[in-house]
Amino acid sequence: MLFKTSIDYRKNALLKLLVSIEKHEKEINQALYSDFKKPEFESYLTETYFVLSELKHTIKNINKWAKPKMVLPFLLNFPSTDYLYKEPYGKVLIISPWNYPFHLAMLPMIAAIAAGNQVVLKPSELTPNTSKLISKIVGEVFDKNHVEVIEGGIEVSQNLLAQQWDYIFFTGSVAVGKIVAKAAAEHLTPVTLELGGKNPCIIDEKANLKLASKRIVWGKFINAGQTCIAPDYLLVHELIKEEFTKYLIDEINAAFGENPEASKDLCRIINEKNWTRLIKMLDNQKIIFGGKNSKDDFFISPTIIDEPSLNSLVMQEEIFGPILPILKYSSEDDLDNIILKFEKPLAFYIFTEDKRLSKKLIQKYSFGGGSINDTLIHFSNNRLPFGGVGKSGIGAYHGKFSFEQFSHKKAIIKKANWLDIPIRYAPYRDKIKFLKRILKWL
Ligand code: NAD
Repeated sequence: MLFKTSIDYRKNALLKLLVSIEKHEKEINQALYSDFKKPEFESYLTETYFVLSELKHTIKNINKWAKPKMVLPFLLNFPSTDYLYKEPYGKVLIISPWNYPFHLAMLPMIAAIAAGNQVVLKPSELTPNTSKLISKIVGEVFDKNHVEVIEGGIEVSQNLLAQQWDYIFFTGSVAVGKIVAKAAAEHLTPVTLELGGKNPCIIDEKANLKLASKRIVWGKFINAGQTCIAPDYLLVHELIKEEFTKYLIDEINAAFGENPEASKDLCRIINEKNWTRLIKMLDNQKIIFGGKNSKDDFFISPTIIDEPSLNSLVMQEEIFGPILPILKYSSEDDLDNIILKFEKPLAFYIFTEDKRLSKKLIQKYSFGGGSINDTLIHFSNNRLPFGGVGKSGIGAYHGKFSFEQFSHKKAIIKKANWLDIPIRYAPYRDKIKFLKRILKWL
């Protein structure tokens, strides 16, 4: 059955969601804390606030985004009026990950609803408290035929992927992204894939070292490094490496104290599997700071590794945890040799006061998005698209880009009947000469 919603219906549904999220704010914090001890500050900033802000932005702009747009006509079609209509795809499947479990489930869901789709959302099984709460909120706010949450693990996800959808939006690992893309190909279903990668972070000799270290420590250790756009490894100019490393250690101490396990501002690794994966990365490495860990509560302290081999585990896989390798470089060739060894990353960071260098490097390398002299913040402006390139993802969202992502763009030309230029109709005879003369002027 055809499912259609008016703009007013969608707006009202999103307003109800906004009220419900505000009402459940404390429960959201509690769920995130139960799942992996996420600090309240981070829960508010990176989850609830972000979702509320996107909701408000969407509600404010939905009429404008949904309206058919008139575009300039093509003169050959004269006289015509040309339009671009946005149409919902239909039934959309959203599969989300655990690392920002509220935010990364809600954001695509809001956009899919705004664009007029029916939604089935499968949140992550690794954050059961948050997923349960998402299910409760969605159940309270939406008609089940409009938006439904289906909780469960890999099997549930695979069963959903075996069905036919009109659009699939997936956030998660590259490996599962490939499984999703294969399942989508079966029905030629369009997809958005928000994936991961190894994000380089360059600290040039002309960087403000103290400020750079503060901003890197924030971006790397927020969510205990379990952030898709966290700096994965640092490339530090050899002339300033020693000085910069000292600043880095000072900043970690300032943020989490001498005993980070007791800090209330550092969340835990999500589960034993990921904790073990990260601990293995420390094998045979030169740990110059941190390295403390405890299996009991899946804790790993902020850890710095010096000059790991490019063939070591920590430099082969996306780290996705509080481990930060530092590599030195002395020339742009060194940077090429390391950065280009990896697939196109989701994020890229360069710290320098040298504007020419930052401009050159952001244009030289291909990556999803990035920041100059900071980390993560390119994610926060909903006037910028967020997404990967190559193996770090397909498609992008946030703000208007999200609405576009969940809409099929329909081209419509309305031809007027008061004039019918005969040149295009057969018999063509020698009309080609005349046609060429006209086309020269178009
Ligand atoms: P994941 O790929 O293991 O799981 C994501 C979702 O896929 C979950 O809902 C899970 O149930 C489902 N899933 C897992 N295995 C599956 C399978 N075999 N078949 C079908 N479905 C399956 O990812 P994760 O561990 O939850 O998240 C971490 C990864 O996600 C990292 O690589 C990170 O970089 C990436 N990530 C990317 C973004 C982004 O916006 N680009 C954001 C967050 C996380």
